[in-house]
Amino acid sequence: MSTEKKEWMKTPVALPELPWAKDALAPVISANTVDFHYGKHHKAYVDKTLELIKGTEFEHMTVEEIGIATNGKPEKKVLYNNAMQIWNHNFYWKCLAPVDTVKHSERLVKRIEKDFGSWEEFRKQLIQAGMTQFGSGWAWVVLENDKLSVFKTPNADDAWSNSRQPVLTLDVWEHAYYLDYQNKRQAYLEAVIDHLVNWDYMEAQIYA
Ligand code: MN
Repeated sequence: MSTEKKEWMKTPVALPELPWAKDALAPVISANTVDFHYGKHHKAYVDKTLELIKGTEFEHMTVEEIGIATNGKPEKKVLYNNAMQIWNHNFYWKCLAPVDTVKHSERLVKRIEKDFGSWEEFRKQLIQAGMTQFGSGWAWVVLENDKLSVFKTPNADDAWSNSRQPVLTLDVWEHAYYLDYQNKRQAYLEAVIDHLVNWDYMEAQIYA
């Protein structure tokens, strides 16, 4: 994670509001999944982080500052994991929109075609990233040296570096899809990419 990206480093250790109603993603992602994913899993990462930082040097840091301070330190791995799961989930919710409400703009399609060759190739690579992340983790689209590419990280790991910035993420932990898709991770990824991604939000990250 970069120490230079001051502008995005403002995330408080707290559970944010969801950007849409809990049933707005159904039937692609059910209200039941959102209830567990947001209300139990995401909330647990926030609660655990608050518990771990209480009375420590991390108590008044943002999520990003905690990530930078704990990254690569084995004795701080539990705090790193919980704090980064806050960041990753905050970002994931923003990357989704109510079913079929956001169509990709011409500018985004042209950008995808420039960096991936075609929308189909982009879609294929993103699904592939999600499918080849063994176990739990995240599939990402990242911007690096003004070029988009797909990326994946295991468990809670963040996708930031000094030169790399995430512009889209898809949660591929089983808790993100198992209630609705059981073991069919690919069906979840295809449905989310085709019906739920907030392409306007992704575009805003690219051109911010
Ligand atoms: Mn999750």
